[in-house]
Amino acid sequence: MSLLIIGSVAFDAIETPFGSTGKIVGGAASFISLASSMLHNQVGLVAVVGDDFDFDFIDRLKARGVNTDGLQVKHGEKSFFWHGKYHLDMNSRDTLVTELNVLGTFDPIVPDNWKSPDYVMLGNLSPEVQLKTLERLEQRPKLVMMDTMNFWMDIAMDDLRKVLQKVDVLAINDEEARQLSKEHSLVKAARIIQEMGPKTLIIKKGEHGALLFGEGQIFFCPAMPLEDVFDPTGAGDTFAGGFIGYMAKTGSNRFDDMKKALVYGSCLASFCVEKFGTTRLEEITMQDVDARLDDFDRLIRF
Ligand code: AMP
Repeated sequence: MSLLIIGSVAFDAIETPFGSTGKIVGGAASFISLASSMLHNQVGLVAVVGDDFDFDFIDRLKARGVNTDGLQVKHGEKSFFWHGKYHLDMNSRDTLVTELNVLGTFDPIVPDNWKSPDYVMLGNLSPEVQLKTLERLEQRPKLVMMDTMNFWMDIAMDDLRKVLQKVDVLAINDEEARQLSKEHSLVKAARIIQEMGPKTLIIKKGEHGALLFGEGQIFFCPAMPLEDVFDPTGAGDTFAGGFIGYMAKTGSNRFDDMKKALVYGSCLASFCVEKFGTTRLEEITMQDVDARLDDFDRLIRF
């Protein structure tokens, strides 16, 4: 079961109450690829970087089995750059700088041998690029999942509505769900958003876990309570990567398997926040993941 990922591969600069970084590797698709390739071995990436990018990172993705044939390198251009600063609560953050650079003109070219993926993860990008990617596929994948953000709701709602009609799973945070549905109750919001297209909705609530809404069913998975959260950047993308990676590995699109996928997503996200950027995700082994899944089991079983 092949899994195609599209999204930003970027440089980030992060400031938290515990410290700050210079330019480090980030981007939604970087986190999604790292997380999904922990669980699954047929992962392909479509993205764009400039020739200033850290190509050692791309080599490390390849070493994990991620196919990077769909990664475009724009010579003489700069990679996407995002600079964020977290507040004391580590939940909210301000975007200080967004430099689109190569992402501003990104044309998502899907390599020929990736045009019939079984699973697709559309990372947070302009809905126009997300749509274009789906239009370039030769057949309807078994499961299409997407992420988006309030920025696109503000400036590209028409295109966003079109993509929503074509996806099976939408993963957004609680604030975004309220904005998209114009409804405060998350249960009512879910119903409204499901009517826009995605039969399954994941509402992420940061340190308070995530809700999974299927057709007439709800499931909840907490976030692992951690003593120290160092850098939440990419936690949502890691969560999505764990979720879709597990679904691709099992070859399923059933709600019951999505419950387990939610736990895998939450488990991998709990590692992501332990160090800056992609550092922790690149360190962990499947043994670490299995041990933390046991922690989850102890946390929620009664
Ligand atoms: P998350 O913390 O899961 O919301 O994702 C953070 C990642 O999203 C960072 O690594 C950024 O590089 C990336 N990012 C931030 N803004 C955008 C944007 N407008 N388009 C694409 N990726 C973005």
